[in-house]
Amino acid sequence: MDLLSLTAVELSKKIKAKEVTVIEATKAVLNQIDKIEDKINSYVTVDKEGAIKRAEEVQKLIDDGSLTGPLAGVPVAIKDNMCTSGMLTTCSSKILENFYPTYTAEAVLNLEKAGVVIIGKTNMDEFAMGSTTETSAYGPTRNPWNTEHVPGGSSGGSCSAVSANECFFALGSDTGGSIRQPSSFCGVTGIKPTYGTVSRYGLIAYGSSLDQIGPVAKDVTDCATILETIASYDKKDSTSVAREDYNFTEALVDDVTGMKIGIPKDYFGEGLEPEVKEAVLAAAKELEKKGAIIEEFDLGLVDYAIPAYYVIAAAEASSNLARFDGVKYGYRSEDYNGLHNMYKKTRSEGFGPEVKRRIMLGSFVLSSGYYDAYYLKALRTKALIKQEFDKAFEKYDVILGPAAPTTAPKIGDSLSDPIKMYLGDIYTISVNLAGLPGISVPCGVDSKGLPIGLQLIGDCFKEKNIIRAAYAFEQTRSYTGPFDK
Ligand code: GLN
Repeated sequence: MDLLSLTAVELSKKIKAKEVTVIEATKAVLNQIDKIEDKINSYVTVDKEGAIKRAEEVQKLIDDGSLTGPLAGVPVAIKDNMCTSGMLTTCSSKILENFYPTYTAEAVLNLEKAGVVIIGKTNMDEFAMGSTTETSAYGPTRNPWNTEHVPGGSSGGSCSAVSANECFFALGSDTGGSIRQPSSFCGVTGIKPTYGTVSRYGLIAYGSSLDQIGPVAKDVTDCATILETIASYDKKDSTSVAREDYNFTEALVDDVTGMKIGIPKDYFGEGLEPEVKEAVLAAAKELEKKGAIIEEFDLGLVDYAIPAYYVIAAAEASSNLARFDGVKYGYRSEDYNGLHNMYKKTRSEGFGPEVKRRIMLGSFVLSSGYYDAYYLKALRTKALIKQEFDKAFEKYDVILGPAAPTTAPKIGDSLSDPIKMYLGDIYTISVNLAGLPGISVPCGVDSKGLPIGLQLIGDCFKEKNIIRAAYAFEQTRSYTGPFDK
């Protein structure tokens, strides 16, 4: 049996059946990290000792019957913007190079209660700003399918770690596509839940009204199981929603008969690579063969999503990142002259160019005189985009399209032209603006051998629809990782 090729749910079953121990699974992952991490750089921190110690504890709890859940004993990776008590949490920024939180993010706590073993913290774009994981202060992550290409971003480290078997699943965060786009580029499955479903407590804020934590895994079953585990009402997060139904795994049924699926014509225009288009439309055909009703429609306002998003996300970021000033925690410049100069030097030295660009843009759109012209207008656009989706969901259960217009670009290609990089977020961003759930599932590879992702979008609180459609589609293909091409 090839231990590393198991999904998280399969592994946990084998652990409970005593066919594998938690230590064996943990060591297998650590060996894989030793073997390939030099080439991939998925992790900022690997906690070998802590993981082995925790594996021993978890094994005991499984043996004495205290841990019985579907993820017990599974080695996992956490994106480095989620606080983990006593474990370095950098947000891939120099400004947090020495930050050891005193508490753990609620979503991570929920996983710990379920008996997972945390292997370490994954690399990301600095403060989750980017689409390639190249803006990290700790070097870029590389795509396990082809190391000359990026893994996508900002949760690139989480997605490459899952894809390269450096963990069994990971948590990512998605503000404008950061779970779905890198999942698509790395050939793994990722869900961005409805806003408010997973607590943001302990997630280092980027765009607070858009950020959501979600699972990155090898298949839809794992993703639904993980989401069921991490989702919870949390009064420590004022935007947390108490949902009636958290039983996402109930939707793992291979039946889409009568399901209405809308394909937005606007998602198939200029800029979409023909091979991506072909693979996504072929996936729609598979669902149709299984009894889904597929129809094309005009979504509208698609062109306004990117400008509205970059105004809102930058505005929120400029406010959220004001706390990194060298006083409370993190990096402080060594050489300064008075308080203001200390702020200035700390922030100039601690933040990278993409983060500075966003802080400047955000401060600008919030400044008096420009607030109405940019920020308020962006908020109005956001409301109109939500209305467009509301109209679409009166007719359809699920909206189907690509996760990204291209497959993974080469390292270095995107950063040279930030505007072009922002345009790559076209299909994912409006989902965050409208607070909707979305999933990316692998649906093929292009002629370069790079994975393509199918995106399924649901109405608010209707994760089950996208999970059902994704699961049904997944049954038509077998999982292939970068090592079994
Ligand atoms: N690429 C987008 C941005 O840079 C999305 C990032 C994210 O979802 N965290 O803002």
